[in-house]
Amino acid sequence: MAHINNPMEIYKLLNGSNCRACNEQTCLAFAVAVFKGRKPIGDCPHLEQDVIDRYGGNVEKPNTVDEYKAEAIEKLKQRISSIDLSMAAKRLGAEFSEDTLRIKIFGKSFSVDAKGNLSSEAHINAYMVVPALNYILNGSGKAPQGNWITFRELSGGPPRFAHFQKRCEEPLKRLADTYTDLFKDMLEIFDGKKIDSDFGSDISIVLHPLPLFPIMVCYWRPEEGLESSLHIYFDSSSDDNLDIESNYTMNEGIALMFEKIALRHVT
Ligand code: SF4
Repeated sequence: MAHINNPMEIYKLLNGSNCRACNEQTCLAFAVAVFKGRKPIGDCPHLEQDVIDRYGGNVEKPNTVDEYKAEAIEKLKQRISSIDLSMAAKRLGAEFSEDTLRIKIFGKSFSVDAKGNLSSEAHINAYMVVPALNYILNGSGKAPQGNWITFRELSGGPPRFAHFQKRCEEPLKRLADTYTDLFKDMLEIFDGKKIDSDFGSDISIVLHPLPLFPIMVCYWRPEEGLESSLHIYFDSSSDDNLDIESNYTMNEGIALMFEKIALRHVT
């Protein structure tokens, strides 16, 4: 029996055409119905038999969620406890007072104490914690240069590029194709800014996952004979402020977060 952690894992097996042959409005709604056991996966007539065989029984939902990276977080917290947080704040566009570093993550205020504990009124998940602690530990403080480059052009980017496309860009593209509020949500939740990019995209938004680490998300709508596309760009200073693993983790977290938000709208 296949292990399924969330409806998105089923959604990724579907062709995304929203043809409604399964009697659901969208592929996303069908994925949720299968995950909740309301529909058998074989109700989608477009799936290959081997996929139906693999996922045809009741899907098994193992314990999941954010125990993920707990060990990495503990190690980073230990390292934070040995650095001068006031110096790190000066370097990284953060503030420091009462033994606490205050930093904006996606536009929201977070505090980091001398033991590396992150706190905020906003929701905190592991996908943010690891990059934020690495940024505080290793970010050089280099200011953004205003030149956008691809993940592949970052140091250490080429070997991970295919994964980055699959786990970060493609899920967002598929969401943007079907969930029309995606960019509105991104702007609101992450305090982002809509811009006119030089890349001719239909929608371009800039987000600040960390103060000196902006990203730009560009989306091109489908046109006659052409599929839609979505790409995430990075400032050319990115390598100086965040390592490639943290960058990947953060973007994967963004994709997962918006998949969950989109799912809430169809359940
Ligand atoms: S799940 Fe399958 S049948 Fe249902 S809308 Fe998507 S492609 Fe069509």
